[in-house]
Amino acid sequence: MTLTEELVNWSYEQKCEKAVKSLAGNGFVAEYCRTSRDAAEYILAEAAEADSIGFGGSLSVADMDIAGKLREMGKELLMHSAPGLTTEERRVIMRRQLTCDLFLTGTNALTLSGCLVNIDATGNRVGSMLFGPKKVIVVAGRNKLVDGNIDDAVRRIKGCSSPPNARRLNFNTPCAKTGFCCDCNSPERICRITTIIDRKPRQTDLRVLVVNEDMGL
Ligand code: SF4
Repeated sequence: MTLTEELVNWSYEQKCEKAVKSLAGNGFVAEYCRTSRDAAEYILAEAAEADSIGFGGSLSVADMDIAGKLREMGKELLMHSAPGLTTEERRVIMRRQLTCDLFLTGTNALTLSGCLVNIDATGNRVGSMLFGPKKVIVVAGRNKLVDGNIDDAVRRIKGCSSPPNARRLNFNTPCAKTGFCCDCNSPERICRITTIIDRKPRQTDLRVLVVNEDMGL
């Protein structure tokens, strides 16, 4: 590891720890994970008691490559983005995610004051984060940290997250071509629902893993 990498990691570690402390103050169970492998181990341990596991479609979770291991453990995986599904089949899976045993997702932004900020098109992902699943685990890579307020978090999402996500998901939006948000009114606009989770939802076991690696968009 170069000295630059060492110092960047140290700097992010301070920010991650600050976010963890703030999240705990806001009622969440929050853990610092030095690597995505540590986060994967946490999830696999928590999955032991779950039968059905919902995937919110997050790149952070997909990059951890845990689906195969969960399958080997005999878990039912609810993945609406699996290839070859019809629109109706995807809808059925998204509905079932709302009541699964364990829901796995990333977050578009996490403020150092411990707020999760997300923008969704359909609402299935943010809906499952709020209420329904027995347990929710949010994986937040260090690139999602925002040292600022909710407006800054939304700015991060519209600047760094939504345009490449629109491109990844093949939506016909201006940002998918230019890389910049123009607050479009496109029929395929993906920014339709903005949620702020600023305290642990009362009846949801919502845990946040803050990872000292870049993960997802
Ligand atoms: S509002 Fe439109 S242009 Fe802006 S990020 Fe969302 S989909 Fe892209």
